[in-house]
Amino acid sequence: MSGLFGVIGGADCTSKLFVGVDYHSHLGTQYGGLAVLNGENRITKKIHDIQQSQFKGKFYQDLQDIEGKAGIGVISDSNEQPLVFESKFGTYALCTNGLIENKSEIASELIENGETFSEYSKDGVNPAELVATMISKGDDIVDGIGKMYDQIQGSITLLLLNKDGVYAARDRKGRFPLVVGEGDGFHAVTSESCAFSNLGLKAKKHVGPDEIVLLTEKGVKTVKKEGEDNRICSFMWIYTGFPASDYEGINAEEVRERCGKALAARDSVKADMAAGIPDSGVAHAIGYAIGAGVPFRRPMVKYTPGYGRSYTPPSQETRDQIALMKLIPNEKIIKGKSIVICEDSIVRGTQLKNYTLNKLYNSGAREIHIRVACPPLMFPCKYNLSTKTLEELAARKAIKSLEGDIKKNVDKYLDSDSDEYAKMVEWINNDLGSTSLMYQRLEDMIEAIGLPREKLCLYCWNGRK
Ligand code: SF4
Repeated sequence: MSGLFGVIGGADCTSKLFVGVDYHSHLGTQYGGLAVLNGENRITKKIHDIQQSQFKGKFYQDLQDIEGKAGIGVISDSNEQPLVFESKFGTYALCTNGLIENKSEIASELIENGETFSEYSKDGVNPAELVATMISKGDDIVDGIGKMYDQIQGSITLLLLNKDGVYAARDRKGRFPLVVGEGDGFHAVTSESCAFSNLGLKAKKHVGPDEIVLLTEKGVKTVKKEGEDNRICSFMWIYTGFPASDYEGINAEEVRERCGKALAARDSVKADMAAGIPDSGVAHAIGYAIGAGVPFRRPMVKYTPGYGRSYTPPSQETRDQIALMKLIPNEKIIKGKSIVICEDSIVRGTQLKNYTLNKLYNSGAREIHIRVACPPLMFPCKYNLSTKTLEELAARKAIKSLEGDIKKNVDKYLDSDSDEYAKMVEWINNDLGSTSLMYQRLEDMIEAIGLPREKLCLYCWNGRK
């Protein structure tokens, strides 16, 4: 994932831009970047590697050097952004969130037709540069963004800064959110609506799928109308999004509580407490505790200074080190107890097994019942960077072990009433070493989110686009 924030207004927008971008730090761990348009319509950009230090520490000094009336910024999980381009549309800065599945094919075709690219990273052409090259084929910026969407498979949400203001475009299926807000003489756009609250901004509009809006000092106008086909990422509510954010007007914390209640409604276990693996498991556990009528307690506490999420760092070694260090078990709460542990999802399962369960058993837990807020993850995300291969997924490892082939009879394993599904869950439970394991049913998760099924991306769980 990556997080985007843009703002325009006032004499200088940089302090709002800095804080607004910083509030997306949970969405990426690789690069942070800012681009600001000054009074002479010149753009200054700053990009830092934030793998070893937090955004605010890296960019604090830059605030002394940049000043301007409009800016965009990004916390990126993959590439250095924003990039600045000289083009037939004038100078502009661009940052993107998403994944272009057919990136290599598009890049090869453009190179064959005489285009050149300068920004390369380990996974090929920088997507912002590729997107800019496609936009340049349009008659104007809005037409160019449309032409880019005609070509890509996958998902790109973008912010583009130029002398007109800040353009914000959400992809054809609206996989990832953008929210527009205003207040204090500023207009802003954000991936996470929670970024507005402490900046004196109020959310005014959720940008629609395929819609393009332009933020100026005077206001916000739609320059391309929204489409009808919305497939917003369900995983934002379950795990990746920030609890205080709303997507399509639906709050993430409330969805997580409803997920926990739905799990409790189908559960017969009588545990001493419900607990969530911090941070995203906590709200699921609160919901479970309310639904099951058991106390919510904290058998493990997150040591907050300096340890981010362990899902997004690129190497297994880094993920393992973060997972080992960040949760500290509290033996006084754990010893002799039967504990329901709510988890947002099980991706690989290795951290749950090697760290959470080990720590709880070593601290004297009598029983550990794992309750997962979403169904088994079966398909790597096609629209953003998360899990990258089938082989990584715990459910697929179970299928490989049971069928001898990771892709065999997968449809049967998607049906939560089938014998195959029960065997898969049992296999994962045995592999983890938990007392019991239960996943959320897909229909319960959809109900907890509260949008019609056809408006949600559920590809992670059912493989349907
Ligand atoms: S595949 Fe999963 S993570 Fe990716 S957009 Fe869809 S729901 Fe979100």
